Amino acid sequence: QLDASTLKAFENAAAGHDGVMSDPSGELIIKPTTAAEISFYQNTLAEHPDFAEMMPTFMGTLQLGSPASAPSSTAVHEPDKITQAEKDQQLLHGAKISSEKAIVLENLEHSFKSPNVLDLKLGARLYEDGTKADKAERLDKVAAETTSGSLHFRIAGMKVWNGSTFDTYDKFYGRKFNAQNVQDGFATFFSGLATGLKLEQAQELLETILAEITKVRHMLEKYESRMYSASLLVVYEGDSGALDSLMSHEPRARTEERAPTQKEVRRSIVEEEEEEGEEPVAFKVKMIDFAHAQWAPGKGKDENVITGLKNVEKQMDQLIGKLEQQ
Ligand code: ADP
Ligand code: MN
Repeated sequence: QLDASTLKAFENAAAGHDGVMSDPSGELIIKPTTAAEISFYQNTLAEHPDFAEMMPTFMGTLQLGSPASAPSSTAVHEPDKITQAEKDQQLLHGAKISSEKAIVLENLEHSFKSPNVLDLKLGARLYEDGTKADKAERLDKVAAETTSGSLHFRIAGMKVWNGSTFDTYDKFYGRKFNAQNVQDGFATFFSGLATGLKLEQAQELLETILAEITKVRHMLEKYESRMYSASLLVVYEGDSGALDSLMSHEPRARTEERAPTQKEVRRSIVEEEEEEGEEPVAFKVKMIDFAHAQWAPGKGKDENVITGLKNVEKQMDQLIGKLEQQ
């Protein structure tokens, strides 16, 4: 059950606007958004379910002061309640608040102990057709001055666990790089691997993350879309102890050495089925931020975004190369 009065500000965003919220358990992200982003999530589930796997799980939408609605496939949420304070606020702001809709998503950071998060904004062109000239000019200027223009991606923000707190890197950090030195940003984001893991494990993790990025790209090459200002979000475990055990591939510790009985085997299978989708993982790679995204049959591949992903893959490949030389 999702009760709107219990939502709290999400403090762990890597980039973007304020206003992203979380539920008390921290499992969900509630992001106030546009009708376009809601449609994109709904259309993707209906038309390209394989691409939906490259996105955070979409739980439904939420409108302040009215029942939550879930997507047809998985109805999980009860109607939300609003507090008196919110009702007052609604009166105060009238139509604006009551028309504000939010999407309810899986919180990609939730399963991690200390999630390191990197937001890579994709594309050299960052606005859709029909955008006001002053906004378009502003975004073109930022692109021209950053790796958005040269590499079709830029670091929009990141958050890196240093062993006791998170180091945060805001949007101005990522804007300072050029095509020659943006590798330093990747090295900073993945610096924890050197301390937390053996060389081969660090390599394996980077290779697996790279393979996942390639999978996202291949899917975009298969379909026709236009995604402006969408991001690739990379999350990996920043706690070195937790990361080490995730990468060690050891079966869960057994208390007894003898072989399990039939009954125990059956029970563990049932438990695994129940826990499906909540298996701890060392990393997640997903596309997010679809406020200006649409499926665009007939328009051809989204080269603007695909080029950005190719260049991200090159950076990852270079980083793996540097590890090998150590
Ligand atoms: P905007 O950039 O328009 O504010 P985003 O969708 O990019 O909106 O979200 C802003 C930030 O919130 C992202 O950089 C990311 O760190 C965080 N975020 C968004 N969606 C999720 C999610 N499903 N799980 C975890 N973090 C998220
Ligand atoms: Mn964003």
